Amino acid sequence: MKVAIIGGGLSGLYAGMLLERAGIKDYMIFEAQGKLGGRTPSINLEWVNQNTNQTISVEHFDLGGTWHWPSSQPELVKVIKELNLQTYEQYQMGDALFEMSKGQPVERFGNDGGGGNDDFRRIAGGMNSLIQAFSKNINSSRILLNHHVNKLEYSNSIIEITTKDAEGKEEKYQAEKVLLALPPRLVVRTIEFEPDLPEKLRLSWLNTNTWMASHAKYLAVYDKPFWRNKGLSGNAFSRIGPLGEINDASSHNGESAALFGFFSLPANIRKNIPHNQLLNSCREQMIRLFGKEAADVKVDMIKDWSSNTYTATEEDLLPPKGHGHGRAPPNIPDDGDWKNRLVGIGSEWSLKYPGFIAGAIDAAQHGIDNYLRESDKSRKVEL
Ligand SMILES: Cc1cc2nc3c(=O)[nH]c(=O)nc-3n(C[C@H](O)[C@H](O)[C@H](O)COP(=O)(O)OP(=O)(O)OC[C@H]3O[C@@H](n4cnc5c(N)ncnc54)[C@H](O)[C@@H]3O)c2cc1C
Repeated sequence: MKVAIIGGGLSGLYAGMLLERAGIKDYMIFEAQGKLGGRTPSINLEWVNQNTNQTISVEHFDLGGTWHWPSSQPELVKVIKELNLQTYEQYQMGDALFEMSKGQPVERFGNDGGGGNDDFRRIAGGMNSLIQAFSKNINSSRILLNHHVNKLEYSNSIIEITTKDAEGKEEKYQAEKVLLALPPRLVVRTIEFEPDLPEKLRLSWLNTNTWMASHAKYLAVYDKPFWRNKGLSGNAFSRIGPLGEINDASSHNGESAALFGFFSLPANIRKNIPHNQLLNSCREQMIRLFGKEAADVKVDMIKDWSSNTYTATEEDLLPPKGHGHGRAPPNIPDDGDWKNRLVGIGSEWSLKYPGFIAGAIDAAQHGIDNYLRESDKSRKVEL
């Protein structure tokens, strides 16, 4: 094949869609897990209504990446529009809550961002809508799920790709070029290179934080957004924890009511706390903040990204060094055998939005633009 894309998250799928649009059919997407989406999964949840005994299912709660910021991310907005996806404002009408320290009453204050902050949006149907929209534009025979790429070997102008499935069964493929659609640190930790990557590059990829890999989300679904009736936005901040920041996670059409929170407890501490204990502390905190209605949670769950093998590594158990998302590392080896053979297109390689959803789109677009320019040049040389 001409191009192998490693990773079936946003960047890998967008790259696949761009190749299809350019008329290039000779490519494959290798995804280690049994499903697409990487750090942007949306899940469907259901519960039984005690009064009617009816099973209620609600779809598309985001457990990973959620928001985009239209005024500063025009490329992503363009893609969303082209795919005819609907977006909606993050609900922020009403007051926010703050718990300062144990024993002190919860404080309530006017939410500055409240009401009509258009620059903080979600995609209707969750991030799953974007994943689905990309997938629809890709020939499904080009996607291989349960194919963990664990080795790349270069010789005689060909890259041999070794994959393993969950049972350890190996397969081999050959490609001219590999697009790395996964976090740089995960490339170093999950793939063996022969010959080795240049050492300076290997270290810079290993030292690039994978955005949000050390984080965990708590999601709680209710039968109605009771906090809105109390004039609350659903935003809450806490110095007590276990959740540090909470937001409204209800769907755009009012079909579902939910709150979600980011843990303030670091991953290396969370991992030593039994799951049920952690879940109970979240439930207690929701009641403390939002009142007794929060006890009537229909279904709740924790998604801990630090224990996801295909997102986090041992380096992600500690809070990231430095602020923000860091600077993007080089996306191509500039010398040695791998030069012109590998390109990093995962979000962390984006120069404009490293770590963000918009970064996955930006880095993939750059990777494909470069690939198309190069292959055009070599076609002209052949002619
Ligand atoms: C909790 C959380 C909240 C976030 N919130 C936001 C937000 O609100 N706004 C925002 O802009 N961004 C947010 N992000 C970041 C955003 O989700 C990511 O930037 C984006 O999803 C990255 O896409 P990607 O394709 O580059 O990488 P990923 O989504 O990480 O995809 C990589 C894919 O590669 C696969 N893979 C890994 N190793 C291998 C291997 N060896 N072989 C084959 N496949 C492999 C993985 O299974 C995965 O599917 C959040 C992330 C998290 C975790």
